[in-house]
Amino acid sequence: MKDVITIKDREFELFIEQEVIEQGIRRIASQINADLEGKNPLFLAVLNGAFMFAGELMKEVTIPSEITFVRLASYHGTTAADDVKEVLGLNEGIEGRCVVIVEDIVDSGNTMVSLLEQMKVHRPKEVKIATLLFKPAALRQKLHLDYVALEIPNDFIVGYGLDYDGYGRNLKDIYKVK
Ligand code: 5GP
Ligand code: MG
Repeated sequence: MKDVITIKDREFELFIEQEVIEQGIRRIASQINADLEGKNPLFLAVLNGAFMFAGELMKEVTIPSEITFVRLASYHGTTAADDVKEVLGLNEGIEGRCVVIVEDIVDSGNTMVSLLEQMKVHRPKEVKIATLLFKPAALRQKLHLDYVALEIPNDFIVGYGLDYDGYGRNLKDIYKVK
């Protein structure tokens, strides 16, 4: 793989190689297999960013489980400053279930807190969070993350599902902005 790439107007440098990413994913998959055995979890992956993480994670999950996908959309009628998103595709299918949210990244934590609030309405039995990436220095919410594949510093990154202006999601390694 190349060490420096250009996406649109920005240069990015290689930051985390695929093998390291997938080691992190295998580690949390083992924890999930141990912790959620017998709970028949429903994985709820958040599109678009979590698609590659979800695919790799599910290959390593060995306990009986299901997966479904949701998408976040901007609310109508909120202020531009309010970045909170509405969850599309959530339904009563999660009632009484052990749900594992599968996210690409937790930055400020605002998105995750909003997602958790919207899920409550549908009465899941319990909710766990699995995230590919976590930026501890950026967190602004009180949030317990159950499964974190990789902790990273407060840099903007692309690859492994994450985009820069729509591009770069297909990169198998993670790059950070130069
Ligand atoms: P939060 O609500 O936790 O601040 O941010 C969550 C969302 O911001 C993520 O789902 C992702 O879409 C975006 N995000 C945060 N940090 C990054 C980053 O470093 N790279 C990319 N591509 N997206 C990010
Ligand atoms: Mg996301």
